[in-house]
Amino acid sequence: MNFLSTRGGEKATGAQAIVKGLSANGGLFVPEKFPVVTTEEFEEMLALGYAERAAKILKKYFDEYDEEFLLKSCESAYSKFEGGDPAPVVKLDDGVYMLELWHGPTCAFKDMALTILPYLLRKGCDICGIKEDILILVATSGDTGKAALEGFKDAEGIKVTVFYPSDGVSKMQKLQMCTQEGKNVDVVAVKGNFDDCQTAVKEIFASKECEEKLLERNVKLSSANSINFGRLAPQIAYYFSAYLDLVSSDQIEMGEEIDFCVPTGNFGNILAAYYAKQMGLPVRRLHCASNSNNVLTDFLATGVYDMRREFYKTTSPSMDILLSSNLERLIFEISGRNAKLTAKRMAELKTTGKYEITPQELEKISETFDGGFADEDGCVEAMYDVFVDTGYTMDTHTGCAMKVAVDWFEKHKKDETKTVIVSTANPYKFPQDVLYAVTGNDVKDSFKGIKRLHAATAMAVPKQLKELRDKPARFTKTVDGSKLFDEVLEFVSK
Ligand SMILES: *Cc1c(COP(=O)(O)O)cnc(C)c1O
Repeated sequence: MNFLSTRGGEKATGAQAIVKGLSANGGLFVPEKFPVVTTEEFEEMLALGYAERAAKILKKYFDEYDEEFLLKSCESAYSKFEGGDPAPVVKLDDGVYMLELWHGPTCAFKDMALTILPYLLRKGCDICGIKEDILILVATSGDTGKAALEGFKDAEGIKVTVFYPSDGVSKMQKLQMCTQEGKNVDVVAVKGNFDDCQTAVKEIFASKECEEKLLERNVKLSSANSINFGRLAPQIAYYFSAYLDLVSSDQIEMGEEIDFCVPTGNFGNILAAYYAKQMGLPVRRLHCASNSNNVLTDFLATGVYDMRREFYKTTSPSMDILLSSNLERLIFEISGRNAKLTAKRMAELKTTGKYEITPQELEKISETFDGGFADEDGCVEAMYDVFVDTGYTMDTHTGCAMKVAVDWFEKHKKDETKTVIVSTANPYKFPQDVLYAVTGNDVKDSFKGIKRLHAATAMAVPKQLKELRDKPARFTKTVDGSKLFDEVLEFVSK
């Protein structure tokens, strides 16, 4: 399978798309066409475990990787998850299910892709004949950073630098990153919010000068951000797996259409659901859930993407994003794969902070997508109501999705379609906020929050979060957005 850039020009193989991350003209790699999962394949996948299902989906995009390799890699990656099933579907209520994607090493859904990406990337380097060391640069709104560090730590020939916004991540997220072990990792705080951080990192990727300076040191850049197709493909797999689980547990009939509600920031997770639909998964609607940074809600309602607005710091920091990078892939599809138009819109976004799609395009998007958002209060109420009614505890990001889903249910009372709400983080990653939502108690310290949340919910506390308390902080530096490349050079020259 070949890949195209959303902004035209370049073609790449799957391995090249993974290794490069971003195309040379700043566009994102998309598959030349969507592979299809046939009825026979659906039936066949019913009997398979998660790793086998994921390997089958990956093989459809990465046909130059051999099947045995993909399967072994998936088995090894998903063996790092607690409880045997990396993506369990839990029934919440009649017709409402939670897809829990946070049983991995760092307790957030980013693990679903970042445990497998190192295998795909290293093999990709072999396939492409790359001799240089690889430096993965990550801009993180909190969860990607830790998942990338954990996924790539001590990987041969690969280094990782993670930049996070100094005042944009939760205390647990920061602790997770600053205490990271491994010889090949670096973690740096950047002044400002996630958009500033992501923009500064994108500039390094776009700079010929940076590329040359790194090559002098025998280093090539790659990305583990969700713009990398190697991140997207493994995410497609869990939508298939969730569907198959619903079929095999007799919750739905094979072929029956279902809805997904996805807490959204960079538009990666929900885009994977859309790709799954393009591949033949019976998906009816995709509810795109935002927090107060509701630029996507407005876009889906009006067709105008306008990021010139106030930026809110919320209790769902991984969704505190105004520039949703992966939306470019949807815009590309909806425009009839018009690369020139996509490039023009993205240039407009960069210079004016805004672009607009046509009413016909908006109509096409609205056939599948709708948007909603939860403000801080709405998120808390949704988490509280579900906890009281069912005993189920969710994190703040999932809380936003819950609020949006409940709003949808209220508006469409007689709707029989089953809904899967995608649950993206373990509640203990945001213990104070979740504790406040379910009990009304406010505690000053995260570990006190963990203790009380455990007392209130009896939910098991992940060992890796409990242990953070006693781990020494290895990384404490904060730098200005303009100084990122100096940090990179210093790190690779060590
Ligand atoms: C990253 C993240 C999101 C947003 O996912 P996108 O792919 O960026 O839309 C939601 N919830 C949590 C917990 C996350 O870590």
